[in-house]
This record gives sequence, C-alpha cells and structure tokens, in this order.
Amino acid sequence: MAVTEPALAAVSAGQPAAHSSAHYAAQSGAHEGILRRQSARESAARTYARALPIVPVRARGLTIEGADGQRYLDCLSGAGTLALGHNHPVVLEAIRNVLDSGAPLHVLDLATPVKDAFTTELFRTLPRGLADRARIQFCGPAGTDAVEAALKLVRTATGRDGMIAFTGAYHGMTAGALEASGGAPDVRVARLPYPQDYRCPFGVGGDRGAELSARWTESLLDDPKSGVPHPAGMILEPVQGEGGVIPAPDGWLCRMREITAARSIPLIADEVQTGVGRTGTFWAVEHSGVVPDVMVLSKAIGGSLPLAVVIYRDDLDVWPPGAHAGTFRGNQLAMAAGAATLAYVRENGLAERAGVLGARMITQLRCLAAEHPCIGDVRGRGLMIGVELVDPAAADRPGAGTSDGTSVGDHAPAGSTESTGSTGSTESTSCTQPTGSTGALDRPTRPLPPAPELAAAVQRECLRRGLIVELGGRHSSVVRLLPPLTITDEQATAILDRLADALCAVAQPHHG
Ligand code: PMP
Repeated sequence: MAVTEPALAAVSAGQPAAHSSAHYAAQSGAHEGILRRQSARESAARTYARALPIVPVRARGLTIEGADGQRYLDCLSGAGTLALGHNHPVVLEAIRNVLDSGAPLHVLDLATPVKDAFTTELFRTLPRGLADRARIQFCGPAGTDAVEAALKLVRTATGRDGMIAFTGAYHGMTAGALEASGGAPDVRVARLPYPQDYRCPFGVGGDRGAELSARWTESLLDDPKSGVPHPAGMILEPVQGEGGVIPAPDGWLCRMREITAARSIPLIADEVQTGVGRTGTFWAVEHSGVVPDVMVLSKAIGGSLPLAVVIYRDDLDVWPPGAHAGTFRGNQLAMAAGAATLAYVRENGLAERAGVLGARMITQLRCLAAEHPCIGDVRGRGLMIGVELVDPAAADRPGAGTSDGTSVGDHAPAGSTESTGSTGSTESTSCTQPTGSTGALDRPTRPLPPAPELAAAVQRECLRRGLIVELGGRHSSVVRLLPPLTITDEQATAILDRLADALCAVAQPHHG
C-alpha cells in the first residue's frame, strides 16, 4: 500500500519553493539572522541544531521547508516521533476539533472525554495478555519521565532497588533514566551485554552471541556472589535506537521474558521509539510475542505533541496516590492528536507497510554497501534503519578492527547468522546481494573501527542534497533513517538516492 501525501511532499525536496525572488531575499536574511541569534543565545548543550542549521517554517508529510526556501526530506521525524509525518490532516483535524469545542486545554489528570477516547484507542492496540489487565499512568510529557515512573513503579511493587539494564541503552536524560542508560555508571544498575552481531562482545554474533548474552544474564542473577542483588526490574529496548539501531533477536527477548518471569522480576519494555508501527508491528515486542509487565510509551503516541505514559499490569498497581505526579499530565491537544494517530496507523495497516518498505530499503542499502567499503553494517527493523560507517583503511593497519574498534578480534563476518543484522530485512529485490542467504553484509574482515567524522560528513552532504538524517550509535558513526510510516515508494527511492549521492561525495567507492 502506498499512502499518498499531498502538497509539499509532491514537490522535490532540496529545491527552493515557488516564491518570488524578493520573498527569498527577505526569507534568507531572516534565516541567517535566526541561526546567528540561536548560536549566540542558546545553550552549549543544544543538540540537533548544531548539525542541522536549518530554520523550518512549513512542513507536510516527509517534507520540511526552511526559511531560506529550501526543502528537505525529513528522515529525523522529530527523533522518531512523527509516525504520520508533519501536519498530517487527521492530526490537524483532531487538534482543531478540540480547539473549536471549547474544551479546557489544561486539566491536570482529571477525566475528560478526550482522555477517555485516547485511553480506549491506546488499550485497543496493546499486546493481548497486557490489554485485559492494563493500568495507565499519565506522566510528565517526556519519555524520560515515563521511564522514571516505570522504575519507581517496579521498585515500589517489589520492595527492591536494583535494576538490570543493557549496554548501549538510552532511556532519557533525567537522573533515573540516565542511570539505566549505557553512558552513565551507577551502582544501582547492573548493565549486561545487549546482543549484537557486528560488534558482538563475545566475538561470535548471531544466535550464539545472543545465547551467551542470555546466559550471562542468568548466571549473574543466580550467582549469590555476583555482586548484583535481586533487582526490582529489567528495562530494555526491543530495538536500541540511540545505541545504533540494534534490533534484539526475538529469541533473546523470549529468553529475557523467561528469565525475568522465573525470578519474579518485572520486565519493562521501553517502546518510546519503537512503538506505533515503526518496526513493522504496532509494538516492537509483538515480533517475539513477548508480553512485558510494563511498557513505557511516548513520542508517536502524542501525534507530534508531547505525551508520555506507563502501561502496566494491574497487580503492580500498589504505589500510593501522588507517587508520580506532575502539572503537565493532561495535554488535551496531544491526547487528541495521539488518538487520531494511533487509529490511523491501525486502520491503514501502517505497521505492516513499515515492515515491507523497511525491509526493501535495508536490502537496497546492503547493495549500496557492496560499492562502499566504508559501510560496515546495515541493520534495522521496519522503518528504523541504521548504516554504520567505518574506516576501511584500518583493514590494512595492524591492530585495527574489533568489536569496539580498538584491536583485532577473531570472529566471523558481521551478519553471518539470522539475528540482529538481518532481522527486518528478509525480502529479496532485483539487486544482487553481496553475500549470504540471510541478506546480511559480507565483510571479509572483523568489524572495523567506527568512523564518526565520516558519518558527520555524510550527514552534512545529505543536508546539502535536501535530506535530513540523524546520527547515532555508541560512537556517533551510525547514519539513522526514521522516516514517517506514510512515505511513498517514490519518496523512499529519493531518500536512498540522496544518501547514495552523499556517500559518493565523501567516501571513496570501491572499484572492481
Ligand atoms: N527511551 C527511548 C528508547 C528513547 O529513544 C528516548 C528518546 N530518544 C527516551 C526514552 C527519552 O525520551 P524523551 O527524549 O522524550 O525524554
């Protein structure tokens, strides 16, 4: 199914919009002034604004128009928020309906018809097994606040304190969420290896690597001298997003479910980024059939406006009134936009569409990798896609190329099994795969050192060609594609063409 997008999406991005030259001159001056004032006045901690010096003034679907008249295909999508792209008509209509109805916009956590409708629509989508016994806590509007709530919930319910989280995880920027993320050391959180093919910590990748990671988890929990007390919960992302687009193998997720269930440890699925159809199922846990005890949801559930919730099984609902409060938990516009988005994704089969289109794009990117030795890995699930850039010259240097890019290991080529690298991409296309029956990349050597500067250069060249991409991964060397689920086949082709062009501009293609 191809979902059509009117207006802006139809025109080619990267080209000036159709206005007079006087209009441009004025807009262009405004554009530069705004950017100049931003860098003079805003915090040194600002993020996306550094790599993407654009001033969006209009947007529709996949396309953003800048104040200078340039148009861009937006594969950042508000860091994966915009399931339906910018300003989708059903979202705008839902927002207008609330505005026109005279309903209060701020109601703390009071009951309203808008909230009731949102909750009904959300519960309708939940994995069976959780839906029947689900409770919802509306949180402060960022994903990180819902993560805090989830951690608090399981700590209260179990009376325990410690938490199991995974290497490379990203759960947010508030204290508890940060503790559970890969970048921050903390004594209350034990961090275990997240399975991955390309930079497998055990040097084997695939099913074997995932099984070793599961056994490590099991032995750590059962060893009274492991130094890890019985935890209050385990938190994981079904596909690590910020960690570099690493899908957990379904078998590993099932093992995590078994391991936690057998030890009465609540399993928290952080679906802030993977939810609402992005990975090819409505919720990413559905690929494996795993039913978590707790789900953390944000980003796309608000239909582009801020909204975050925790969903959990009713027996965990033992925290006292006020245990997780906050002023902004009743954003009516976000609930209306969110309900419209959830319903649209469900009714139009956009999760399936994301699965099919994403698989095709991954296959095409793997073909591109055959021409570019600087592409170390291509992976993803649905429309959550990552291209890891590496330093191919390091292959000729002694001591290069290991799981962390610092020294040589001895394992098989990346993607040599069915797991991580190939999870979402089994569909074949006319393009000849470089290798293997699994569709994963054949890289004759071990993983090469990550190339963050090359990735930044690719991002810049993409922007010059009217394509917005994000960078992620442990070393910021993964080019990330998170397009709206509504993109057409033609738009997908335009995205890949521009990316290919950008790669050619910065990297030496492989000849012969
Ligand atoms: N969890 C995951 C998996 C995320 O990807 C993010 C944001 N990228 C968060 C939590 C935090 O969400 P927020 O930025 O809205 O606080």
